[in-house]
Amino acid sequence: MPDAPHTHEQVDSPAFYDRHWEHTDTAVDPYVVEKGDRILRLMPDGVRSVLDVGCGDGYLTHRIAERFDVTAADRSGVALSRLRCPTVEASADALPLGDRSFDMVFASELLEHLPAPVLAGAAREFDRVARAYVFVAVPHRENLRRRFARCPGCQLEFHIDCHHHSFDKDALARLFPRFRCVASAELGAFERATQPALERIRQRIGRRWWVWDGAKITCPRCGHDRFESPPRSLVHRAVAGAVDVATALVNARSGRSGGPYWLLALFRRTNE
Ligand SMILES: [Zn+2]
Repeated sequence: MPDAPHTHEQVDSPAFYDRHWEHTDTAVDPYVVEKGDRILRLMPDGVRSVLDVGCGDGYLTHRIAERFDVTAADRSGVALSRLRCPTVEASADALPLGDRSFDMVFASELLEHLPAPVLAGAAREFDRVARAYVFVAVPHRENLRRRFARCPGCQLEFHIDCHHHSFDKDALARLFPRFRCVASAELGAFERATQPALERIRQRIGRRWWVWDGAKITCPRCGHDRFESPPRSLVHRAVAGAVDVATALVNARSGRSGGPYWLLALFRRTNE
């Protein structure tokens, strides 16, 4: 868990997600396009109806709707206004839908954003609403510290996408104990393995935060939205360079240099 003290209300509210979807277009990312292809290939036989929870701008929703009856759910009215299918404005932990009312509940890049109580509630709702399958995409073994920025306004250190959780296949399986993983895939951009402690040094001492000029980042505590790389001296650069070397050494020793950024995992209900 990150050590950012922002509140649930600030990072898990319709207004927070509206701000995000006012300026985000996922279809311009070639890895998201590839993800759409992989999702369609992994779709099991026998599925007709799909509920897409946290549909965002609807790129993947519309890809799935090429072959399935899809209903899209999101907390953001701005996001839902971009959808061309039936929609439900709802939080993932309070879906106004009947028990077993969809063959599959699908969620891409949703679970990692949810504060812990909302995540637990969402897992219960997926179990309740899904007749047969839960299909999720999440960042795979993400080092949450890596994408931290520090707000120049209030000094809050926070994940730029407000991720609260890091998952692997076992962690996902624990969320859905009445389901079994029947298919999975890793895909997306290669993500170098990093260590939280070394990233802290890179950021706090080397002043290399996850910020680049022009990127849209909003502080979840004070709303500051002008993030630029802080000035860095030769010493700062040397520290960040040393962290790069240390990270490479740790990775060489562990034999794990990294992997694709996303994990797709398909779960099938087991108790019937
Ligand atoms: Zn701030």
